[in-house]
Amino acid sequence: MSLASPSPVLRQVISQRDYYRCVYCQSQAEIAGMQFTIDHIIPESLGGTNEETNLCLACWDCNLIKQNRIAAIDPQTGENVPLFHPLQDEWGAHFSWQQGGSYLVGLTPVGRATVAALRLNRPWLVRARERWVEAGWHPPA
Ligand SMILES: [Zn+2]
Repeated sequence: MSLASPSPVLRQVISQRDYYRCVYCQSQAEIAGMQFTIDHIIPESLGGTNEETNLCLACWDCNLIKQNRIAAIDPQTGENVPLFHPLQDEWGAHFSWQQGGSYLVGLTPVGRATVAALRLNRPWLVRARERWVEAGWHPPA
């Protein structure tokens, strides 16, 4: 969450770079039917900048749930590990789709901690994904 909002141009650059998808839950703005928000990967309260390298596209729920965290507990080991960093970490190395694409699993400590902390299998989101999968819109390529 941020008080300073990125310029419309920067917002467009980031949206395009992130394929109009939430970098965390991979929801697509086009089928979610809403514009997404710009997330500070490192929150401003922890010294994160307003530069492109610290900004990403996120859905409102992921952004709200993430709050100002940069680390979380891996439910498997109990270790505190960094949250997934969308510009430094490869999504596919940390996460995998199950149940045809409606359910997300973490493959690594970072992936598992991020799935748990950001509640990436929120019941309402899983139900939406089931419809998106039926329609052939999800998961994104
Ligand atoms: Zn999201």
